[in-house]
Amino acid sequence: MIYGMNSTGIRQLLAAAAEALAREESRLNALDSAIGDGDHGITMRIGFEAVKQSLELLPPDSLPGQILTASGRTFMDSTGGAIGILLGRALTASGEAIHGRRTVGTPEWKLCFQAMEQAVASTGRAKPGDKTMLDAIHAVNQTLSTMEDVESPELLRRAADAAERAAEATASMRCQMGRASRLGDRALGHPDPGAVSFSVMTRALADRARDLTPEFFAGFP
Ligand code: ADP
Ligand code: MG
Repeated sequence: MIYGMNSTGIRQLLAAAAEALAREESRLNALDSAIGDGDHGITMRIGFEAVKQSLELLPPDSLPGQILTASGRTFMDSTGGAIGILLGRALTASGEAIHGRRTVGTPEWKLCFQAMEQAVASTGRAKPGDKTMLDAIHAVNQTLSTMEDVESPELLRRAADAAERAAEATASMRCQMGRASRLGDRALGHPDPGAVSFSVMTRALADRARDLTPEFFAGFP
């Protein structure tokens, strides 16, 4: 039997992402210092801290889609920079994509990650291979597209593996978008901070999903 994750589970995953991004703040700042302006870790920490706090203010009966949409708005409102708009829109779009669903299983995860990719691509106009966060999201979708119905922890584990591999692979790309596009060959050897933070986020979702007890899955309110 394949169970979807309920809204309490989704809240847990977002909180886990906030904790992981806070732990990785200095690494992400350092990556952004190499090819950008050094603020990526700060922005991700502040944005997800705001998301985590806002979870407590949402009505207890909020559906998964409403939680994700609200998180996207909170992220955008509490941060600046490219990532504020890009990830804010991505999260909002992922929530809209599963509007009305009570649980998040394989079909909903696929809709969420596809909506994120579309939102980032249409907002930032980057293509896969341009050395941005889109590379990590695109790799997740490629992996998910080959996947049959699986339990959420397994799906997210494979998504995180794909995101991490893609983030590492951005080190050998030249940057076409954002601040680092001015660096030319000097960006070679450095992974893209937004791709790395996306992989940190996805790994945090996967690790928390693995540790969740049955009340966070379908069948429980
Ligand atoms: P800023 O560049 O405004 O300082 P951040 O440092 O928080 O913002 O985020 C930088 C990350 O944003 C980059 O590493 C890249 O992944 C992502 N990014 C920037 N511009 C684009 C774009 N046009 N499309 C997709 N992602 C982008
Ligand atoms: Mg920056």
